[in-house]
Amino acid sequence: MSDTTGIDLALLERARARFDEHFGAETAPRVAVAPGRVNLIGEHTDYNDGFVLPMAIGRAAVVVFRPRDDRTLRGHSVAFDETKSVELDELSAPGGDDWLSYVAGVAWAFESEGLPTTGLDVVVDGDVPIGAGLSSSAALELATARALAAVGGLDWDPVRMAKVGQKAENQYVGMNCGIMDQFASAVSEDGKAVLLDCRSLETRPVPVPGGAAVVVMDTGARRSLAGSAYNDRRAACERVVAHLTTLDPSVAALRDVTPQLLERGKDGLDPTDLKRARHVVPENTRPVKMAEALKSGDLQAAGQLMNDSHYSLRDLYEVSCEELDLITEIAREQPACYGARMTGAGFGGCAVALVRADRAEEFCDRVLPAYKAKIDLPAELFPCRPVAGARLLD
Ligand code: ADP
Ligand code: MG
Repeated sequence: MSDTTGIDLALLERARARFDEHFGAETAPRVAVAPGRVNLIGEHTDYNDGFVLPMAIGRAAVVVFRPRDDRTLRGHSVAFDETKSVELDELSAPGGDDWLSYVAGVAWAFESEGLPTTGLDVVVDGDVPIGAGLSSSAALELATARALAAVGGLDWDPVRMAKVGQKAENQYVGMNCGIMDQFASAVSEDGKAVLLDCRSLETRPVPVPGGAAVVVMDTGARRSLAGSAYNDRRAACERVVAHLTTLDPSVAALRDVTPQLLERGKDGLDPTDLKRARHVVPENTRPVKMAEALKSGDLQAAGQLMNDSHYSLRDLYEVSCEELDLITEIAREQPACYGARMTGAGFGGCAVALVRADRAEEFCDRVLPAYKAKIDLPAELFPCRPVAGARLLD
């Protein structure tokens, strides 16, 4: 069961009960929630100053909170079954990368931006799978920001708070993430995905037609390989830009590169680097095209773009894996499926499919056993609708 905003009611119940248990029930705590997200298209384009098209999903981080009279931040995590605390006046970056650091990091980022902070008791809970590429970390940051903003009496400024969340993750936690996840978790509107220009940070809400369901397909695979491969890919993109700038000085990122310019510059490039760029340059046009397709209700076209994106990530960017290829292939075999692709950095985690809404459950019931028959991992499929960004529940 979920409420109208897609939050699982049993999850809220559990988080509230944990709060009473750990921090007492004398005055009722408040609740902030912020969604995870799935990126519909535009993969490995964010750090190339390009476009992405994430959609906030009904899986969320939950922060149950009550202000304290002192400057202590005391947290309990349901997932880690752990209680610990930090002093707000002793925070400095880099701080750490355990679960409380995501909360403390946001408090630190508030302080560093001159925003007020207050000691808090918090229970942290959520149902965004951790480390699956659905951005449980940004969800936790934005739920924390929403709680701190409420306690500090601040007007909620989603764009500013997305940047505060990213600052916490980059500088306090020490994770060099882009801005997409925090934006999706902060600015999303109900019923809409978000077309984000990672250069200008302009956003455009993109209605997802009622006839379409977005199905998240978690392969169950988790690989640490993603970190080093990610750095390799970023470096390759930078080398291509450095070379193409000598042909066209207006090129500052792969975002600025046309297929013609890439063709013209190819002889001066390492063949692997060229392959990487041949993914990014067309991929960067797909979020805009997919936004158009969704707007006009052309789900076939939207699905085709997703398939194209997957093949490009598999063959040119080489960040897919057996599990992601298999689950997307099984998905495409279903008549209800318009298209499917891996989502997130790759090598495991989740894929995403665009499916007829009236057949989404049946789609899940067919794909999961077919996948599990070949790969013995704790896979999971769930249909999603776009939900609103970080909010208070009272
Ligand atoms: P993801 O792709 O899910 O964002 P990250 O590695 O970026 O994966 O972030 C995961 C980390 O965020 C977890 O290890 C934990 O420290 C923190 N986190 C996220 N969700 C929760 C939660 N519900 N409870 C406690 N910590 C969480
Ligand atoms: Mg993350």
